[in-house]
Amino acid sequence: MTALNENYLKLPGSYLFSTIAKKVAAYKEAHPNQSVISLGIGDVSQPLVPAVVEALHRASDEMGQRETFRGYGPEQGYAFLREAIVKHDYQNRGIPLSADEIFISDGAKSDVANFQELFASSCKVALQNPVYPVYLDTNVMAGRTGVFENGRFGGVIYLPCTEENNFVPQLPKEHADIIYLCSPNNPTGATLSKAELKKWVDYASEHHSIILYDSAYEAYITQPGIPHSIYEIPGAEKVAVEFRSFSKTAGFTGTRCAYTVVPKVVQVTAADGMLHSLHALWLRRQTTKFNGVPYIVQRAAEAVYSAQGQQQIKAVIDGYRQNAEVILNALRKAGLTAFGGVNAPYIWLKTPKGLDSWSFFDKLLTEAQVVGTPGVGFGTCGEGFFRLTAFNTLQLTKQAAARVASLKF
Ligand code: PLP
Repeated sequence: MTALNENYLKLPGSYLFSTIAKKVAAYKEAHPNQSVISLGIGDVSQPLVPAVVEALHRASDEMGQRETFRGYGPEQGYAFLREAIVKHDYQNRGIPLSADEIFISDGAKSDVANFQELFASSCKVALQNPVYPVYLDTNVMAGRTGVFENGRFGGVIYLPCTEENNFVPQLPKEHADIIYLCSPNNPTGATLSKAELKKWVDYASEHHSIILYDSAYEAYITQPGIPHSIYEIPGAEKVAVEFRSFSKTAGFTGTRCAYTVVPKVVQVTAADGMLHSLHALWLRRQTTKFNGVPYIVQRAAEAVYSAQGQQQIKAVIDGYRQNAEVILNALRKAGLTAFGGVNAPYIWLKTPKGLDSWSFFDKLLTEAQVVGTPGVGFGTCGEGFFRLTAFNTLQLTKQAAARVASLKF
């Protein structure tokens, strides 16, 4: 018999979304006349903007002509997109990256999942609790996390994000090799200020750690002064890799395009003490395992940076932001305490006394016919919290909000 990778057996079953789906299906079956509204999913509801659709059409036409047809593209992505990204997202913000430090991919999920391959299995991982589960699970698969006991892996450094610390992770006392940070955060909606981020960059510089910085929700930042990129912090270019995505910025969840920034100066150490460029290693990995994002999709992503594209995606994001405000107001009306929703499409509410995350889920479903996500599904520190998303339509968000506002706790 072929032996399996035993690490997969350590993965705690991902019951969260399947349990939610089962509970919702059972409720709908028992109450066929009730309309259930989901504020649970992390997927967008608005279509691609016209500038993107036009670019998709144009590129599709090119693919149908012998003269303009494209086969395999560069694994790292077409220069036209890498140049648009580096100019718009970095150089215009005073960050001197170059286009060949950008790697185009089919999603931040795959990149953030795959990146850990470049590090030794002995590396110590630090991550936020609650957390986007991909960071943890991929390290479990790689055998980097130790044994799972009482809801925690013994080999992982958990960084509690609680109401007491404003959901901002504090530096660990021990040494971490790989640090995952997510700002604006999924699920808490919290952001890291420049001062807080600087502490992490200083820690990583001192400890020779690598920060894997997920800023998939950067476009949702509204407050001035909050860093959009970790490279706004001096020295970060030596210790950090940044993940970004067109998914929530431009509705590409089904179109698939993202990018990862690996500055050329980031280095890692081999067992013999030799230093190696992380950029060269990631390029080697990508050219071996990845054949690039479709040409038409990269042209579509490029259109996001046109003047029209920028105006159009801003209008969509403003709409989601309005939803977040509607939800926050409703929660406050219901006497609940809520966080996030200002610089992120996620609202993180505190469940009222006596209700844990799942009891709150049941109450919301049965009394308001609204679906959200129990915070405990994102980690032990999520117990007593609940995530709502701003991604539904305004009309349904308003309906859901009105129902929640009328609940008694
Ligand atoms: N990172 C975070 C924090 C996310 O919440 C998500 C998606 O929900 C992703 C990455 C994945 O994005 P993509 O659609 O680009 O794979």
